[in-house]
Amino acid sequence: MTLDNFNLSDREKKILTSYIENDSFPHTLLIDGANIESRTEFAKFVANAILCQSAGADKPCGKCSACIKCAADSNPDLKQFGEEKESYTFKVETSREIRKDAFVIPNDSDRKVYIIKEAQNMNDASENALLKILEEPPHFDYFIMTCSSKNAMLETVLSRSAVISMGDAEESFSPEALQLSDSIMSALCENNELKIVEALSPLASEKQLFEECMSCLGAMFTEALKYKKAKMCSKEFESEAHSICAKLSQTKIYSVINMLSALKEKFKQNANYNLLLTNTAVALKGAVNG
Ligand SMILES: [Zn+2]
Repeated sequence: MTLDNFNLSDREKKILTSYIENDSFPHTLLIDGANIESRTEFAKFVANAILCQSAGADKPCGKCSACIKCAADSNPDLKQFGEEKESYTFKVETSREIRKDAFVIPNDSDRKVYIIKEAQNMNDASENALLKILEEPPHFDYFIMTCSSKNAMLETVLSRSAVISMGDAEESFSPEALQLSDSIMSALCENNELKIVEALSPLASEKQLFEECMSCLGAMFTEALKYKKAKMCSKEFESEAHSICAKLSQTKIYSVINMLSALKEKFKQNANYNLLLTNTAVALKGAVNG
C-alpha cells in the first residue's frame, strides 16, 4: 500500500511524502475528512510508516518485522484507542490510561504510536486530559487522531496538531447540482419518504449529476455538523446548515454523511444505476431515522 491508495490532495500528499522521506513525523497528527473506514485505514498506514524499520524512503516497506506485525495488528508499539464508530462515549479514564502508558518505553523499536479513533467523541474533559500528554510527549511517542472534522476538536488540541484532511479538496458545485441537493436536503429534513423519492427523481435522467449531488449534500451536512458542534460553518451552506441542525440530531447528521460517501463509492463501482437510485432513497431515509 502506498500514499496513492488514499484520497489526498497534491498538497497533503507532498507533506506526507516529506515526513516519510525524512523519517520525521509530527508528534500529533489529526486526520479528518472522508469517511470512518478511510480515516482509520490511513491512520494505520501512517502509524506503520512511523514504525517501519526500513532504511529507505519506501516506508512502510511491508517486509520488515515492524511492518509484518503492523499488518497482523500485533505490533506492541502500536496502540489503538477509541471506537471505529461515528458516535460513542470516549471516557476521560481512557485519556488518563493513554497518558500513563505514554511514559512506558517502546517494546520493539524506539518509537510508539497511539491511534485515537474518532476523537470528536471526546468531551472537553477527555480532550483536556489528553492535552497534557500532547503538550509534552516523551520523544518516542506519536499520536494520530482521526475525526470527522477538525472543527469538532478543541482549539488547544488543534493547535498542537498537524492536520491532514482527506477527501476532495474545496469543491464548487454546478447550479443544477446545488438546486437538486437543496430539494433532497429539505425532503430529508422533513423525513418524508415520498418527498425524498420525488426529490431524487430528476437524477434518473441525470446520471452524471449523481456523484456531484452526493458530494454537494455531503458538504451541506458536514457544514451542519460543524455548526452543531461549534456554532460556526462556511457562508456557502449557512442556511442549509441551519435548516439541517433545526431538524436532525448530531448522530443522524453523522449517519447521513457516512451514507452519502458510501453511496458515492457504490456509484463509482458501476452498480446498476436504477437500483442504486432506488436504494439511495431507502438508505438516506434510514440514515435520517437513525
Ligand atoms: Zn517496514
